[in-house]
Amino acid sequence: MICCEKCFRDSEIKGIIRSLNNMGHCEVCNGKDVYIYDTESNNNLVDSFNELLGIYTPVTSLPKGFPREKLSLLKDVLYDKWNIFNIDSEKIYTLMKNICNEKYEESPELFDYPIGILEISDENYLKSNSILKTHEWEDFVDEIKTKNRFHTKYINTDILGKLCSYIERPLSKGKRLYRARISEESGFPSDKMGAPPPGKASAGRVNPLGINYLYLADDRVTTLNEVRAGAYDYVTIGEFILKEDITLIDFTLLEQISPFTGGALQLAINMEHLKKISNEIAKPLRRSDGPLDYLPTQYIADFIKSIKYEDGKSYEGIKYKSTLYQEGYNIAVFDESLFDCVEVCVYDVKGIEYRYNSVGDR
Ligand SMILES: [Zn+2]
Repeated sequence: MICCEKCFRDSEIKGIIRSLNNMGHCEVCNGKDVYIYDTESNNNLVDSFNELLGIYTPVTSLPKGFPREKLSLLKDVLYDKWNIFNIDSEKIYTLMKNICNEKYEESPELFDYPIGILEISDENYLKSNSILKTHEWEDFVDEIKTKNRFHTKYINTDILGKLCSYIERPLSKGKRLYRARISEESGFPSDKMGAPPPGKASAGRVNPLGINYLYLADDRVTTLNEVRAGAYDYVTIGEFILKEDITLIDFTLLEQISPFTGGALQLAINMEHLKKISNEIAKPLRRSDGPLDYLPTQYIADFIKSIKYEDGKSYEGIKYKSTLYQEGYNIAVFDESLFDCVEVCVYDVKGIEYRYNSVGDR
């Protein structure tokens, strides 16, 4: 079977296929003049996929009490949980059987029966390898809101730090970002466009009450959405420029972490937790939110801010998707003095577009 680079999203796999330097026609996605991989004559992907398959056990070999809700078919695991393929789950099934044909002959139940990760039911493994140890995110939320705030033992910070390092990215000096404030027609001067003064900041998903972070967005449209400007509002937008090279934890990269660079089992155990954290950080503030609702993500952000490696490396902020403007992203910067506001401009909002979902009949 001939597949191609375009059948995959994973950068490691794409790289392997490209390095074979064979051009041709893909039988799986129908790509023409693409870098191809022939499962009959090439074997460069076999070890990588066998290693990934190695973290799963077919239901026939799992202990009786293994939680049923943690079982899925391989094709669905590979389609839903990992961002490896660019084809649907039926095609994934056929392609996997061809890539790993020896494995399929040896243990077809891995491909055809529901599979699970044995370590998910191993308390000792979870305690030392899961961000949330043996807990779920909701347990942590309850603990930090109502039981133990500053010295919670629910988070395995060693693992959180390690997994964060997979999504650290540099942000170069000179980078331009934006912040908006609803204003009068006369607008705000540049010295009023930064974070609120220390002690005055209201709580956000990243910053605790009284601790001021600078929230910036990638462009003007994102920032208009983030500030929730209404029709006929005047909005002052400040343009900020980064004064030195910094490093961020970039939650928008979660989808791009490859299981083929090592540590696939630990990653598999933690991927849902990481996505939860990322979604919680990106969740828009609602008027109905209470002051305790932001504690869980503030705790995570505070931990990221506290990391300081022996070589002096630390993280100066967190990048996350904008939920109010799909194409945009936001950055919460821990130290606002890293940026200068170089320009301010006042805009008159001419109209806004509403997007909504039904949340059910009442
Ligand atoms: Zn293809």
